[in-house]
Amino acid sequence: MVGAGFCGIGMAIQLKRHGYQDFVVLERAEGVGGVWRENTYPGCACDIESHLYSFSFAPNAHWTSLFPGQEEIWKYLRDCVDRFQIGSHIRFGHELIEARWEKNSNRWRIETPHGIFHARILITATGALNLPSVPDLPGLSRFQGKRFHSAEWDHTVDLIGKRVAVIGTGASAIQFVPEVQKRAAKTVLFQRTPAWVLPRNDHPLTNRQKKWFRRFPILQKIERLRLYLYHEAFGVAFRKSKYMEKAKSVALRHMKQAVKDPGLRAKLTPNYMMGCKRILISDDYYPALAQSNVEVVTERISEIRERSVVTSDGTEREVDVLIFGTGFRVSDFVFAKCVYGSRGHSLLDGWNGSATAYRGTMSAGFPNWFCLLGPNTGLGHNSILLMVEPQMKLILKALRYMRRKQVAFLDVKPEAEKRYVEFVDERSRQTVWLSGCKSWYLDKTGRNSTLWPMSVGQFRRKTVSFRPSDFQRVRSER
Ligand code: NAP
Repeated sequence: MVGAGFCGIGMAIQLKRHGYQDFVVLERAEGVGGVWRENTYPGCACDIESHLYSFSFAPNAHWTSLFPGQEEIWKYLRDCVDRFQIGSHIRFGHELIEARWEKNSNRWRIETPHGIFHARILITATGALNLPSVPDLPGLSRFQGKRFHSAEWDHTVDLIGKRVAVIGTGASAIQFVPEVQKRAAKTVLFQRTPAWVLPRNDHPLTNRQKKWFRRFPILQKIERLRLYLYHEAFGVAFRKSKYMEKAKSVALRHMKQAVKDPGLRAKLTPNYMMGCKRILISDDYYPALAQSNVEVVTERISEIRERSVVTSDGTEREVDVLIFGTGFRVSDFVFAKCVYGSRGHSLLDGWNGSATAYRGTMSAGFPNWFCLLGPNTGLGHNSILLMVEPQMKLILKALRYMRRKQVAFLDVKPEAEKRYVEFVDERSRQTVWLSGCKSWYLDKTGRNSTLWPMSVGQFRRKTVSFRPSDFQRVRSER
């Protein structure tokens, strides 16, 4: 397996719980946690409630708040590693260089800086948000101040009293901008596209609540179910835009409460359909933007100079620190260029600019390869872990089937994959994501290759049933 973030840890736990011992987890970093280890920017937290943003098989009665912060989530993951004793399976510093299917041995040959591994099964669990994207702005290399991306926060830079420029207004930026605003003398926020922002209504979980969850785990399960159903109901709005109108009025009211200046409100009001880009949640973003030490700039950046940012209207703003909240190269799945299947080409070549996979998990010509959080498994409305768990179940079913039937390898049939992808594309056309805005949900061909276009329940039902007829199966030689 490749990757020891949320997905890799969860899969390792499930393998172990189901009696598999002979596996290793290759992790390029020196610690577990993936994005929750990497993203340490101030204010970093999850925008899904803690009871739902945790494994169903590893509940945690100790969450301190409804929306846990980065440190708490990272600790949860480290605790899972200890609790289920999977640490001994993890090989740190083992970046995947290349994985190649070897027809002669029906094995994956996996190359890492510390040697070659041979495995019957390859599971990639590398996530989608690990390649920071920094725009190639004219003159950027000339900038003399400090600069960093939100996913590579430089904690040695003291922002107190500084003039800070922030580029980007996505899910990361709206979390760290309020923290920057509190410290900096001046924060200049360069906004290309405003986001729709809903209230987060975060609050601490009381000791009494935690005690009840500890004593009666069923209560936490009920709370999880309640949150799941609430988010599922909201998901309908992504397919039926009239429901989005209600959410839109909540978002506009939320903005009006905090931002009294109509000019600033006009700048912050999106002109695209709500949900087309990720809907953000925050209680402190708008109040921070309303402060006198914040300027929201909507003109395009035309140039970066040694100590300033120049916009298309010719205005030059002096800044000491430049922070990129400009997101990730999401459609560049990290593993795709280094996984080579039975026909000798890589996944990236086969995808031809648009990633596809049968149930977001398998691809024809890549025998015994499984991918967690692959193409079309992202969500705009619910906990991503609810998508990963059915994928894990599918993998476990496939492994059990292979063992029972003495199958050397499973390769999804191209027609089964094609059928699945056509279904996903057809459903995507009915969503708000293809309503005309530009978002990272769409790849360079304009196709939605990122999000699942239906409910979580529908993904679960489609994914957990293992259909042997969808696969070419080659039996092991006895
Ligand atoms: P993002 O949502 O992709 O936002 C990037 C921002 O940078 C956008 O506002 C974008 O503007 C702007 N931008 C990009 N290139 C630019 C350029 N050349 N000039 C000016 N602006 C530019 O990235 P993110 O905020 O890091 O979030 C990425 C994803 O991480 C999220 O969607 C979410 O899935 C995940 N995340 C989750 C949480 C959580 O709580 N669970 C927290 C943080 C992040 P445009 O909109 O115009 O492109």
